[in-house]
Amino acid sequence: MSVLEIRDLHVTVGEGDDAKEILRGVDLTVRSGETHAIMGPNGSGKSTLAYSIAGHPKYTITGGTVTLDGEDVLAMSVDERARAGLFLAMQYPVEVPGVSVSNFLRTAATAVKGEAPKLRTWVKDVKSEMDLLEMDPAFAERNVNEGFSGGEKKRHEILQMRLLKPRIAVLDETDSGLDVDALRVVSEGVNRTREEGEVGVLLITHYTRILRYITPDFVHVFVNGRVVDEGGKELADKLENEGYAAYVKDSKETA
Ligand code: ADP
Ligand code: MG
Ligand code: MG
Repeated sequence: MSVLEIRDLHVTVGEGDDAKEILRGVDLTVRSGETHAIMGPNGSGKSTLAYSIAGHPKYTITGGTVTLDGEDVLAMSVDERARAGLFLAMQYPVEVPGVSVSNFLRTAATAVKGEAPKLRTWVKDVKSEMDLLEMDPAFAERNVNEGFSGGEKKRHEILQMRLLKPRIAVLDETDSGLDVDALRVVSEGVNRTREEGEVGVLLITHYTRILRYITPDFVHVFVNGRVVDEGGKELADKLENEGYAAYVKDSKETA
């Protein structure tokens, strides 16, 4: 049983006079076995939240706490966060020249687990996960992110999550024009992980589209750098019908 707790998190980007507060007091708790969707308009700070949890150097934490089972996540290096059981898709480099997917995954698994996975079971696991994600076996020999399509990037991300078996996974659905097929296999990968029980998922999304495939236990509406409403899966349906307009108006009045 794990719990990720975010308390009154304040984050700025930029420096000096250009510094701008993007997260303005975020509170959120994600436990193992729960799937949370964070939904909000473009520019509301959703990716900033993901990057801040991941420890991206561009984002400055100016207040609040993030803990995993009571341990201070903000004090951890990016590698330590992964070893602690946090999976953040964007914690790995965008492109890794000359490193194959297969080697990259094994190196990541070794770093997370503290020892290299046994080669025979590892090769079998990678193959079966790739099959489930409908990935061509040749993909394993390609260089990481080199010329990957949006769908391939997402599949690779889910493949990493499947193999690293995190306690809490933060997935930023960048809504980058995934086709329906990619959306379906990605969702199935997330759902398989959920069925196995122990993971907590924080799924960040702008559109309600992916929530037709992944049913969240909790929905948080994110506007202007904070959570402004919370509910169950029915809140996603409401957002699909009504959009964010009512929340955006409210948030301007109280900003
Ligand atoms: P979302 O993911 O909800 O669309 P983002 O977190 O990407 O929102 O962005 C929120 C705000 O922060 C935007 O106004 C964006 O321009 C700004 N922002 C995010 N990252 C950076 C950055 N690295 N440098 C400057 N501004 C940034
Ligand atoms: Mg505050
Ligand atoms: Mg974003």
